[in-house]
Amino acid sequence: RAKHDGRNTFRFFAQEMQEHSLRSLQLSIALKEALTNDQFHLVYQPQMSLSNNSMVGAEALLRWEHPEWGTVSPAEFIPLAEQSGLIVQIGEWVIQQVAQQQKSWLERGLPEVIIAVNLSALQFHQPDLVETITSLVRKAGVVPENIEVELTEAVALKDPEVAGTTIDALSRAGFKVSIDDFGTGYSSMSYLKKFAVHKLKIDQSFIKDIVTDIDDQAIVTAIIQMAHSLHKTTIAEGVETQEQLDFLRKKGCEEMQGYWYSRPLVTEQFEQFLKSHELQKTQET
Ligand code: C2E
Ligand code: MG
Ligand code: MG
Ligand code: MG
Repeated sequence: RAKHDGRNTFRFFAQEMQEHSLRSLQLSIALKEALTNDQFHLVYQPQMSLSNNSMVGAEALLRWEHPEWGTVSPAEFIPLAEQSGLIVQIGEWVIQQVAQQQKSWLERGLPEVIIAVNLSALQFHQPDLVETITSLVRKAGVVPENIEVELTEAVALKDPEVAGTTIDALSRAGFKVSIDDFGTGYSSMSYLKKFAVHKLKIDQSFIKDIVTDIDDQAIVTAIIQMAHSLHKTTIAEGVETQEQLDFLRKKGCEEMQGYWYSRPLVTEQFEQFLKSHELQKTQET
């Protein structure tokens, strides 16, 4: 019977695999047309200062609306775009979109706000990354100083020396640089100190149970203390409750991003948010 069960399990597994890869394949093919068919848009999630309750910036997050399948999660399609190399073009579209949006806000008298964009591993490793995105931003009529690039700790870790060189070049060009999903990659703190990283984004997996889990409390406390001794700002991701917020504030975390303050918003909603919320005047980095 064990043998029989085993075979069924295997058959089920094989079928799952097949369905999984079929969807991946369909998505990969459809993804090639997504840019030209105008199926992408950005949503903006506000980031808030914990010291004075003002908005410090926002993160741009990519959304794909497929006519047939509806909204496809970036968690699902970004890895596929990364595999096919399409992420480089998509990533440039994101930066261009953000810069044009900032220009439009500027022209319409809305407050200037720093927007963070996610850089994929492949995009980060393009030899002409800094020139390309600097020229996209300037062509739109805005400045790199109002754009923050997020790279994940995994990307920064893979080859710290190479990553460090690019991070410093981005920073010299005027961009702010933050490390996304921080705490998941076991970074060596000593190398972080050397590079022009402005901000650490504490991964949401540590925030989720922070009110009750003493291990998560210890990790987050250590990250905040370490960041401060290296003169870097911390922002907590995925904050959903007042209790989580209170803990973070008590530990000296400077900023937060999460559903508690706001979900990611479509452009029109975000513009309303910009008009009705105070923006932090002086940006400390
Ligand atoms: P990320 O950069 O770490 O973005 C944060 C994710 O957490 C977003 O998911 C956001 O919607 C979600 N989030 C924010 N606040 C909360 C909260 O309070 N609770 C919970 N449960 N979740 C919260 P999203 O938009 O689905 O994006 C997932 C990932 O996809 C991003 O993680 C990022 O790695 C990637 N991604 C999104 N847009 C882009 C892009 O334009 N380029 C690249 N390369 N990657 C992107
Ligand atoms: Mg991010
Ligand atoms: Mg993150
Ligand atoms: Mg993430």
